[in-house]
Amino acid sequence: MFDFTYIAQPSRVIFAVGSLNSIRQEVEMLGCKRAIVLCTPPQRQQAESVAALLGEASAGVYDGAEMHVPIEVARKAREHAKAVGADCAVAVGGGSTIGLGKAIALESSIPILAVPTTYAGSEMTPVYGITEAGVKRTGKDLRVLPKTVIYDPRLTASLPVGMSVVSGMNAIAHAAEGLYARDGNPVMSLMAVEGIRALAGGLLGLTNDGADVDSRAQCLYGAWLCGTVLGHVGMALHHKLCHTLGGSFNLPHAETHTIVLPHALAYNAPAAPEAMEKIGAAIHVTDAPLGIQRLAQRLGAPTSLKDIGLKESDLDHACDIALSNPYWNPRPIERQPIRALLQRAWEGAAPQ
Ligand code: NAD
Repeated sequence: MFDFTYIAQPSRVIFAVGSLNSIRQEVEMLGCKRAIVLCTPPQRQQAESVAALLGEASAGVYDGAEMHVPIEVARKAREHAKAVGADCAVAVGGGSTIGLGKAIALESSIPILAVPTTYAGSEMTPVYGITEAGVKRTGKDLRVLPKTVIYDPRLTASLPVGMSVVSGMNAIAHAAEGLYARDGNPVMSLMAVEGIRALAGGLLGLTNDGADVDSRAQCLYGAWLCGTVLGHVGMALHHKLCHTLGGSFNLPHAETHTIVLPHALAYNAPAAPEAMEKIGAAIHVTDAPLGIQRLAQRLGAPTSLKDIGLKESDLDHACDIALSNPYWNPRPIERQPIRALLQRAWEGAAPQ
């Protein structure tokens, strides 16, 4: 047997088709009376319908959420929340919208109710990120962990299949790295394997029929599990590489995760054989890194960094940043193999 410390993070999770209908009751259960409903501009209509369900408990819709939570966006939203007398925030959207809720909660300590509409998993973590002068500062604070999370698969039906696929692969990356985390534990490993299994099956279902409720439910269930893993254990090389590539070269978040994951897993495979076995078993293959890349290909996802806008001439710089302040990793971080990994990810070559 091995040693571990397991600390559960408190949140109330409601998972059901139609669970959004209980939003008002959930706000009241937190002792709140005026909920500001947060969203991005394209999700305004979805947020308006949530505000309608809240009735008198709504303090209106605020559609100012933006990718990576720029500090100016956070300040404006905090002022608005104060001006309308909000005593809680209902975040309807993906990681960007939930991130805005977290930025408000960090300052005011008002509770967040998250209604996730992607598979990114931010709703299950106490991690926040705010971008100032082009640099994303992240931190951990239990005040930003949503108190209540409502998973209603109906709300993800409008997420285009292409975005769903990369969002789901982003979630799989949390679980995969959770399986070799330094602070991992058996509960998180069980959740990680089940999360990968559910997402792989659900995503394949979506590529046949993007509106299939069962596939949508399976994906969202997987996203909950993978997000929980992300919230409980530390991430390693893969997340550091994606953070570097996304932050410094402005690459799209979920696509970057999808492309890099097979290569980061191949790098770590010799140091984490048990994790590879579990990932492989979850997707029914013997070679986990190659299996993950083949899954992405089968789902029609991008598999090379050059296809999402990274220049080959940026690879040396990307390697330098990835090597600075590295996260803990099961295999030591070495320049030459990391540079080779980036080259393969750029070309879309097979992982090795
Ligand atoms: P996102 O929130 O930026 O959403 C992408 C786009 O999809 C937005 O325009 C959004 O309005 C739209 N969208 C979302 N759901 C939709 C739906 N159901 N139908 C139609 N359109 C929809 O993307 P994301 O991948 O969810 O989040 C990425 C951000 O979240 C990144 O900044 C990342 O760093 C952060 N993140 C943070 C954590 C954390 O723990 N703090 C975890 C994961 C991701």
